[in-house]
Amino acid sequence: MDFLRARTWAEALELKAERPEATPIQGGTDVMVEINLDRGRPAALLDLNTVGELAGWSREGEWIRVGAGVTYARLIDELGEVLPGLAQASRTVGSPQIRNRGTLAGNLGAASPAGDGHPPLLASGAVVEAESVRGVRLIPIARFYTGVKRNALAPDELIRAVRVPTAAGPQYFSKVGTRNAMVIAVCSFAIALHPENRRVGTGIGSAAPTPLRAVAAEAFLAGELDWTLGRAGGSALDPEVAARFAELVAGAAAPIDDVRGRAAYRSHALAVMARRTLGWAWHDYLRAGRGAR
Ligand SMILES: Cc1cc2nc3c(=O)[nH]c(=O)nc-3n(C[C@H](O)[C@H](O)[C@H](O)COP(=O)(O)OP(=O)(O)OC[C@H]3O[C@@H](n4cnc5c(N)ncnc54)[C@H](O)[C@@H]3O)c2cc1C
Repeated sequence: MDFLRARTWAEALELKAERPEATPIQGGTDVMVEINLDRGRPAALLDLNTVGELAGWSREGEWIRVGAGVTYARLIDELGEVLPGLAQASRTVGSPQIRNRGTLAGNLGAASPAGDGHPPLLASGAVVEAESVRGVRLIPIARFYTGVKRNALAPDELIRAVRVPTAAGPQYFSKVGTRNAMVIAVCSFAIALHPENRRVGTGIGSAAPTPLRAVAAEAFLAGELDWTLGRAGGSALDPEVAARFAELVAGAAAPIDDVRGRAAYRSHALAVMARRTLGWAWHDYLRAGRGAR
């Protein structure tokens, strides 16, 4: 197995163009597990840890550009205020050791349906910045997942950054696991309210071959919420609306029975998480008085 180490982003792109079969390695918390378990030995590893351009994040207007080398620990510490849904999900990833090494880009590279980064990225409408020697490609997150552990990257492309809109409204993430920490999601759910354009964002994890949005649930809820009530101090959420939203979220999933849970349980848990996260988000929305009349 060859070990390739890039010192700059330009060098990384050239190495990937020359050796498209090389497996990029960032935190290594997925890659090293695969190697240790002997699940296929890559012909080459392309180490991105020495590429300084990937190590930071920046604010660009209403977006945060999270470099591929930014760890979960940094997301939690530095971006919790502006990307609350993503920070909540990051807090549930593995253990402190994993959060100190693991990255969002690695989560996207692995593209596991159970990855915790995916639901909040879907709910907020993130964009993946992929690059090769051929140029930059911006991939809307909902088009990034192409199958079980498959993504839309071309063989010569690398993830440079993930662009995430700053939260304009409440965001929540919820995850069901078989214990409280160090657990792969049985299923997970994220919600983001976008009051600026009266839109609702959702993301479902571990309940279909890929992470996905509950599109019908989003449209239904956006039409039912009384967005103007925020400023007036507002009303409680209509329980029938919440119940229908939960039903539509569960209906968007395509869960299976596996070692972590049964399909029927996943559907039930998704509905519960959808109703709960909506309740929390709506409560925050009314409290913040964010209604736009
Ligand atoms: C003990 C343990 C607990 C875990 N718990 C969780 C959990 O609770 N939730 C969760 O979601 N995950 C969990 N994971 C999985 C893992 O930590 C995450 O998926 C993490 O986000 C991977 O990031 P990384 O930087 O370590 O990626 P790596 O292992 O370095 O890479 C992962 C994949 O992404 C590709 N890749 C990396 N960087 C790039 C790039 N810049 N461009 C293109 N492809 C790239 C790699 O080739 C590889 O296919 C756990 C892992 C372990 C070992």
